[in-house]
Amino acid sequence: MTRSNLPLPEQFRALRAVKDDAGFRTEFQTLPLSALPGGDTLVRVTHSSLNYKDGLAVTGRPGVLRSLPMTPGIDLAGTVVQDETGRYQPGDAVVLTGWGIGERQDGGYAEYARVRSEWLVPLPPGTDAAWAMSVGTAGFTAMLAVLSLEEHGLTSGGGGEVLVTGAAGGVGSTAVALLAAAGHTVTASTGRPGEEGYLRSLGASHIIGREEVPALKRPLEKERWAGVVDSVGGETLAGAIASTRTHGAVAACGLAGGSELHTSVFPFILRGVGLLGIDSVTCPMERRRAAWTRLARDLPAARLADVTQVRPLSDVPALAQEILAGRVRGRTVVEVG
Ligand code: NDP
Repeated sequence: MTRSNLPLPEQFRALRAVKDDAGFRTEFQTLPLSALPGGDTLVRVTHSSLNYKDGLAVTGRPGVLRSLPMTPGIDLAGTVVQDETGRYQPGDAVVLTGWGIGERQDGGYAEYARVRSEWLVPLPPGTDAAWAMSVGTAGFTAMLAVLSLEEHGLTSGGGGEVLVTGAAGGVGSTAVALLAAAGHTVTASTGRPGEEGYLRSLGASHIIGREEVPALKRPLEKERWAGVVDSVGGETLAGAIASTRTHGAVAACGLAGGSELHTSVFPFILRGVGLLGIDSVTCPMERRRAAWTRLARDLPAARLADVTQVRPLSDVPALAQEILAGRVRGRTVVEVG
């Protein structure tokens, strides 16, 4: 058993979601370490981030927090304090996304987290916790989408545009930057025309309005996209599928615009279009490490700077409202302590 030489605090600060007779709310609490959930590894959390799912959790929307009270925050980065499995040494820098933290057990909006060491990924060389949370669950998901499209046959030499929907959001912004770094011609779909300059700075070649993709309503529209990274769902996803080129593929990541999908089989049986599901939460460890290694290579901190705002933990309740209203650009790193 490996024990930390680092002094353990008696208490730590956390943003807690609670529910009582007065209803649902979030509040800052000071808790003893014994309040942390079970797990073999204690992590000193220095940074977390804000994802769409965190916005849902912090504002009390149903479906994310499976029990209350709970510390939200679906990802975290920091240093290992204690690992009973011996997999990590005290002081090792790690990142954790998904696996149900901030949903089923306490997450990243607290100065300490107790988790399972098998969920952790070592920070790639040359990166730090702030970089990892600038990527966060959203950026990691974008990387998984790009990897899936590439495995399906998307190459930068193949010609054709790659569509990114919800482009000014967290998944979208990172997908635009990753695809541009890989040499693709990227078309960014956004509901915020004012973000055109931002999206072009990330590498988008064309900017189209949010309404242009869902307008593609016929079962088979003109073939346009060699690949698609979709974080919007609903009619946008249906329109993207109908306008994907023969043997192209669509990576379905999110539901910012709706969870329903009304389409026909024609794109699949007449064009061989692939519909690829992306789930970052339960992504296997080997793929996680590969994705983080590629992110470190293609999105070093300098390249992510334009995508990222850094805010204190105390701002999270207000930011949660903002991200649900579609007013947060790119990624938000949360400084925890
Ligand atoms: P953000 O809020 O940062 O981005 C979502 C973007 O979608 C917005 O910026 C906006 O882009 C667009 N959008 C918002 N509302 C609408 C709407 N009503 N109609 C059309 N477009 C809209 O969220 P994230 O990037 O963190 O997450 C995006 C989606 O991906 C979410 O649904 C999230 O749950 C999902 N997700 C899934 C993961 C997985 O494992 N599959 C992991 C992470 C996220 P713009 O302003 O450019 O139009």
